[in-house]
Amino acid sequence: MNCRMRTATEHEYELFMPKPGEHRIRILQTPPKQVIAHFVQAADGSWRRFICAGPRECVLCVRGHTERVRLWIFPIYDRLDQKVKIWSIRQVTIKRAINDMAKSWGDPTLYDICLTRTGMGMDTEYRLIPFAKPKPMSDHDRGLILPDLDEHVRIETMAEIDERLGRR
Ligand SMILES: [Zn+2]
Repeated sequence: MNCRMRTATEHEYELFMPKPGEHRIRILQTPPKQVIAHFVQAADGSWRRFICAGPRECVLCVRGHTERVRLWIFPIYDRLDQKVKIWSIRQVTIKRAINDMAKSWGDPTLYDICLTRTGMGMDTEYRLIPFAKPKPMSDHDRGLILPDLDEHVRIETMAEIDERLGRR
């Protein structure tokens, strides 16, 4: 039962996974939630993300999964899909682009961002530029219900981790 409820919460907000081409988004909340995560391959071959609880407490660190990535997590509004989504960023180039925009244009919640994804695999590139001049969020955007990012980055128990890895 608990498990089902958790899945429902997670599925309410899909992850923003930009396909090749142009996207128009608005970051709805700053600063980003910053977490350290592991990406581990499950028994079925798919990759699962787990939040790291820190080298001494983390089940995965203790098991020798030394590779960890720093994530920035924003709630965003995807104008093309007209949906609030969770944007989990691991690419340093994107983080840097968001910081650069903030330096010249102010807080990223003040403008829509045009994100262009080109290339494939290792050659994937992202270009981010603000749309027009800064403009506060509209009433529509302000009224959007944001995901609970604390729940999104919840640290899982060993049993939950093993279940998601298909080791049960
Ligand atoms: Zn860890």
